[in-house]
Formats: sequence, structure tokens, C-alpha cells
Amino acid sequence: MKLTLLVKLAPDKQQHKLLKRTMERFNEACNDIADVAHQNKLANKWALHKLVYYRIREQYGLSAQMTVRAISKVVEAYKRDKSIKPRFRPHGAMVYDKRILSWKGLEYASILTLEGRIRVPIRIGEYQKARMDRLRGQADLILRDGVFYIAATIEVPEATPLDPVGTLGVDLGLKYLAYDSDGESYSGAKIDEVREKNAKLRAALQGCGSRSAKRHLRKLSGKESRFHRDVNHAISKGLVTKAKDTRRRIALEDLGGIRRGVTVRRSQRSRLNSWGFYQLRQFVEYKALLNGVQVVAVPPRGTSHICPVCGINERANRPNRDSFRCIGCGYAGPADYVAAINIAARADVNRPIVSGSFFEHAVPPQGQSLPLKG
Ligand SMILES: [Zn+2]
Repeated sequence: MKLTLLVKLAPDKQQHKLLKRTMERFNEACNDIADVAHQNKLANKWALHKLVYYRIREQYGLSAQMTVRAISKVVEAYKRDKSIKPRFRPHGAMVYDKRILSWKGLEYASILTLEGRIRVPIRIGEYQKARMDRLRGQADLILRDGVFYIAATIEVPEATPLDPVGTLGVDLGLKYLAYDSDGESYSGAKIDEVREKNAKLRAALQGCGSRSAKRHLRKLSGKESRFHRDVNHAISKGLVTKAKDTRRRIALEDLGGIRRGVTVRRSQRSRLNSWGFYQLRQFVEYKALLNGVQVVAVPPRGTSHICPVCGINERANRPNRDSFRCIGCGYAGPADYVAAINIAARADVNRPIVSGSFFEHAVPPQGQSLPLKG
């Protein structure tokens, strides 16, 4: 399985300038090559190479391998849609490979620039440290909010699937980003708080309309999505760890069914349009794969209306969006929790829907948020 490892660079002022100039020159060259590709309708690497290689090297002062990378980058972009000429931003990602980028232990990266190789200190955490030995092949140099990173693709082995002895049902939503069938909830309150704060700032900036305001706006949305991603990482890690430690599979609603036009409950419609929702799901899926935890998708129909105790399936079981109260037996609880129980039960073919162990938390524990950075 392929993952992207983000390694932060800590260049000194001189190195920072040089990296930036190299990146800008690389992207200028890409735009030049794109002109030629588009004019000649050429999406073939070798044909394009013949046409531009020597001139590009000469004109932009790029090394042989940088030129090769620039040509590939253009070809990849142009292939995707030949009707448009690809454009490259001055600080768009610059592609590196092992001939022009290497790692010096856990302290430095050796990176080729317009003025030869430089040794740039790197800043990595425990997560990256444990995986640095897998770094090889292609990597992108990227500039984000004035900070350089290397985004490298690594190949990580998938764990041998564990033989599950039960199911952890997970309902993904917006109010609670996730609610599991053990009654644990992962709140989106912190995200809403950040979003609200940013919305005010954004309104002020939009009223301003200047160039620097626009730049700030872009930065702001980047920060917000990175924060949301951190939250999604924390939640998915929590869910997968719990499932692994208790030897359970994870059950989620089958989104394929939802997309195919199966009736969707109203509260789901807005969340299905949220990228954060898909991201959380993706994170759960890949972390599960890495940890040998099985993930099953169950049909979503009725998961929010069926009473997990007596099985009555009635819309009236949901007096409002957030709560469930069975009109038959009176069983009550937060709607998302009940959905999670139903999702688990649906995946758990070996267990009857009415099963004692699901109701140990008839009154679910107080919703708790994960501790979050920032
Ligand atoms: Zn009931």
C-alpha cells in the first residue's frame, strides 16, 4: 500500500532562497515545455524529449535529470486532458528522484539546486522516523505557507488480517464526526469552533479585497483543512486502535449504495457533500488495512429508524434529528449511537440483532472529544 510521507525541511536563509529559485525555474521550464507539447500535440515523453531537451537545459540552467523530470511532469499533466495546455504555478511542486535527492541519515536531505547539491536539515517526528528507511524513488518538493517540505511516496506492507470476534459499528456524521457502537462519540465541535472563527476573519478579509487579503484568505482555508485533517487522523486512529485491541472488524455504511440512489436520510444529505466526511472514511479504511483490521460496508437503509431492541422499523422512532425513541418498547438514545449499533448488527452475521452485549451502555457515556493539537 502506498502512503505519502511529509518531511519538513529547515533550510537556512540562503538555502531557502536557492530552493525557491530552483523551484521557480523548474516551473518556468515546465510552462515552456507545455507550450511545445500543446503546439505539437505531443504527449509522448521521448518525442518531446527530442524536441526540447537541449534547449531547455541550456535556457533554464537545469541539470539533466531535472530536465527529464520537467518533461515527465508536463507529459503527465498534458495526457490527462489534451484539450488544454497545462499551466504550472511558480511554486508548484517540483519533482525529484533518487538521482537528485538523497537522505543523509535522519538529519539531512541532499537536494540538487541550480547551484549544485545542498545539505538541508530536516525536521521529522516519530511517525516519519519509523518509516524513513522506506523512502526511495520519487518525491515532490513543495512550498506551503513559506515552508518547504518533501512529500515522498512510501510503500508500506499491509498487515495480515486478524480473525475478528465481533464488530465495531461506526456511524459517520457531522455533529458527531463519528459515533461507535460502544457509545463513544467523536465530536466535531472543535472543528466548528475553528470554522466559525475563520468565517469571521474571512468576512473581514473579503470586504477588503486587496491582494494581500486574497493571499491571507488562501492561507486561511489551507490552515482550516489541515486542522480538519489532523482531527480526522486522530479519530480514525482511535477507532482503528480500539477495533484492533478488541479484535473486532469495523462496519461502516455502504456509500456506494447511497450514491446509487438508495434513499438517504435527510441528516446524511449534507454530510455526503462534505469532503471531510470522505476523508475520515478513507483514513479509517487505510489505517484498518495497515493494522489488519477488516472493514465491511453495510446497506445504509433504515439504520437510523430500526429499534435495535425490538426491531420495529418506523420513522416515528426518530422524534427529532438527534434522538431516537422507540414507539414500541421505549428504548431511547442518541440517534447516531443507535445508527452505529444497527450498523454493527447488520455486519455481524453471527450474532442476532437482539444481543445483550450491545446494550451494556443503554445510557451511552457522555460524548467526548479527542484531545487535539492546537
Ligand atoms: Zn423498540
